[in-house]
Amino acid sequence: MRFTSLGSGSLGNALVAEAGQTRLMLDCGFTVQETESRLARAGLAPSDLAGIIVTHEHGDHADGVFPLARRYGIPVWMTYGTLAALRDGGASAEDCAIRLVDSQRAFSVGDLLVEPFTVPHDAREPVQYVLSDGASRLGVLTDTGCSTVHIAASLSRCDALVLECNYDPDLLEGGPYPPSLKARIAGRLGHLDNRTSGEILSALDRSRLRHVIAAHLSQTNNTPQLARGALARALDCDPEWISVATQEEGFSWRTL
Ligand SMILES: [Zn+2]
Ligand SMILES: [Zn+2]
Repeated sequence: MRFTSLGSGSLGNALVAEAGQTRLMLDCGFTVQETESRLARAGLAPSDLAGIIVTHEHGDHADGVFPLARRYGIPVWMTYGTLAALRDGGASAEDCAIRLVDSQRAFSVGDLLVEPFTVPHDAREPVQYVLSDGASRLGVLTDTGCSTVHIAASLSRCDALVLECNYDPDLLEGGPYPPSLKARIAGRLGHLDNRTSGEILSALDRSRLRHVIAAHLSQTNNTPQLARGALARALDCDPEWISVATQEEGFSWRTL
């Protein structure tokens, strides 16, 4: 199994996981053209994708999903709440093959097993996912305001984790955002700060953990150094061991 990010942050997110002949895209917050060029950079074309699985309706995760799915006939998995919220927001799922995700139930697409888990975030029915090929597990957690027992249980015993480090609390507090937006980001249905991400990491069963990638960093309220430092402190490891996904590049293929 291997995985790569096509970009990560508030301007767009997409990740691809591959096991055997199956490739799944996790979220698509980029235009079709942008997605095509980012996939090409990873050596892929849209026709290589067996499906797109979606975490929630926010534009940085979902804006490109239906256009890409429609253009290339790619099936889409999302919760009913996410679908309803996208439709209410004016998105058209016409000519897209939609499969509804039950947030309590794992499902398979080809060689990949997909385990959804619920998260507290200000969306209609948000989930995050663990992807596995039966031997290795990749856990992805972004867009959650805080941790829960359910999140910790879902992400334990992963071989790789892509973990949101959205903001540094001091930079957010002293930064340019209006008070209402600061409150939304820091709220229990907002985003994870570096320290909370570290706490989540240190509470997990990490017996199999070999890759940690900090993701969804705010370009205004965080720096790669701060995110890396917070996770390294939580793991008591060298900061260089922690990778950081960027908005422009994401991160290159990692093999489990
Ligand atoms: Zn997001
Ligand atoms: Zn979100």
